[in-house]
Amino acid sequence: MNTKLSHGNQLVDALPAPEQRKLLDMAQMVTLSFEQVLHSHNESMPCVYFPTTAFISELVTTAQNECIEVHLVGHEGMLGLSLLLQDKHAPFDAVVQGAGEALRLSRKDFLHLLKHAPKLDRLLHRYTYVVIQQLAHNVACAQYHAIEGRLARWLLMTQDRAGNDTFAVTQEFLSHMLGTSRVGITHAASFLKKLKLIHYVRGQMHILDREGLRQHSCSCYLTDIATYQAHMKN
Ligand SMILES: [Zn+2]
Repeated sequence: MNTKLSHGNQLVDALPAPEQRKLLDMAQMVTLSFEQVLHSHNESMPCVYFPTTAFISELVTTAQNECIEVHLVGHEGMLGLSLLLQDKHAPFDAVVQGAGEALRLSRKDFLHLLKHAPKLDRLLHRYTYVVIQQLAHNVACAQYHAIEGRLARWLLMTQDRAGNDTFAVTQEFLSHMLGTSRVGITHAASFLKKLKLIHYVRGQMHILDREGLRQHSCSCYLTDIATYQAHMKN
């Protein structure tokens, strides 16, 4: 029987049943914990991850030790695109931002699977193109958009991947995410708090008004979604 089930990751779920089975036979469901470091940049990547309920931040650190999030990978994506592009080294640090589960494949199994799963190969190349576009948008976002709008965007992106109105986030991480000082984060968070869009206490972020956050988010939130939908359609 050619049955296809939902496994919680959109890339896996988009595969034809035979390819999905091959992937699931090789994959291991693992639990990732908050702030767990999966790999550091330039390290050899031993595996790839298809998050289902977990989500992972990819971070860049400059020579002066300034850190900023460049990409967020959740149930819509895969961590480990370098392997698809024939490079075994990680371009960024990867830190778990949302605890949860992910399907993990070893590098060897992933590379073997790609040769026998043409739809997966095509899908991941399209996903790579989407990520490149999103990275480019992030550059423009950081340069031109106000910090309050960028924070609202990030909160919406995180809520989408967390599938929950409440999630853990530290102020230190928020400052990395926006590439700004903690003072800047405090001001932006206070602004959203005053509008009763969020409540933040002891490292827990509560989204109170998603629609209000959408209205205050910069345009990049909807641009990211439109880019993904335009290129990842079957
Ligand atoms: Zn923006």
